[in-house]
Amino acid sequence: MKITSLEVLGLREPVSTSRSWWSTTPLDVLHEPTEPRLQRRQPGAERGEPISNVVVVIHAEDGTYGLGTVGVGSPVAISVISHHLADLVVGSDAFETERTWNTMHRNTIALGRKGIVMEAISAIDIALWDLKAKLIGQPVYNLLGGRVKQTIRAYASELYAREDLESLHREATALRNAGFSAVKMRFGYGPAEGRAGMRANQDLVRTVREAVGDDVDIAAEAYMGWDTAYAIRMINSLDEYGLAWIEEPVLPDNLQSYAYVRSRVGVPISGGEHEFGLTGFRDMIEAGAVDILQPDVNRMGGITEAAKVWALAEAYDIPVIPHSNQAHNAHLIASHYSSPLIEVFPEPGVEAGYNFYQRFFDGEPRAHGGTVVLGGSPGLGLTLVPGVINAHLAVRKQFGRTPPDLLAQELSA
Ligand SMILES: [Mg+2]
Repeated sequence: MKITSLEVLGLREPVSTSRSWWSTTPLDVLHEPTEPRLQRRQPGAERGEPISNVVVVIHAEDGTYGLGTVGVGSPVAISVISHHLADLVVGSDAFETERTWNTMHRNTIALGRKGIVMEAISAIDIALWDLKAKLIGQPVYNLLGGRVKQTIRAYASELYAREDLESLHREATALRNAGFSAVKMRFGYGPAEGRAGMRANQDLVRTVREAVGDDVDIAAEAYMGWDTAYAIRMINSLDEYGLAWIEEPVLPDNLQSYAYVRSRVGVPISGGEHEFGLTGFRDMIEAGAVDILQPDVNRMGGITEAAKVWALAEAYDIPVIPHSNQAHNAHLIASHYSSPLIEVFPEPGVEAGYNFYQRFFDGEPRAHGGTVVLGGSPGLGLTLVPGVINAHLAVRKQFGRTPPDLLAQELSA
């Protein structure tokens, strides 16, 4: 079955300017500790509404189409696909995903391998898996070995750092009451804030523990905002709270730091949200960097590469809990015993899971009562929501034969 065309949609959404919450980030080191957290500059925010989401649509000659997304929806991915990838995909066979993946990867070695190029490859690969599963009328998880679990335990990923601890307590209580048996919170302070910041981080964790009780798992996210020495001191000071894991304590390429932190603390260390490719995850495992791997399929190489990473992790008995709840991650989780949890992003106080793409697609996994159940629709089970996409559409590029206009068609349907 030949691929006849490829479309890229660049979507933008309003930039939030009135946040009352934050998280540690790799940029923390650039700021003076006296600079208020909430006034730190958001790149691009002053230019209005940058492109924040990139969707790839791949059409086969019989009219079937597949959908994929670029993990970090940078507009740069549109150029990568336009200049380097689209011509390699149009005219290829929809079922030959292994060949197409290697063709894209090996054609971009000199400029890619990791980062935005691999994210663009990921979007195309996911669209191809969605397409080939639709062509045979099966959900993607049936191409990955079939479901090994009917329901997936969800963890609610929210609970950002803030000064108002009462509101944090309310949010954590609401998540527990919505049925979540696991949550993830964000640290708010790093090395620059010294001992006072450490106490503030402890206050955040204590508040969430008091709200959810002893039986709910709490993971905590440092989002690359710490250094090695700080991470060890900070993590060890939280022993009494029995955290499920500490996520990305240091920069992702500092695998030796990861391993050293892990050797000095009792809490599991997780990472991988900013790692790419089978060899990247091999290096993480060989360095002894993490207890839990967290690849994101639409960043790290798509379903073709993800299936290999999941198999590698299984050989080392390392659980894989991917970043984000998008359908491509959920199908990998559903088909692997080594994936005990799915991340969902609830709106505060709301039970249903949430992410950017849930507005653009119908069918993204949502949590009910703290669990996610995947349906049996062909492919990834996603359909475009034309009204929402048209309202946010900033760029539309087409390659190959002019495809059916899905946005216009579904609008008039
Ligand atoms: Mg994370």
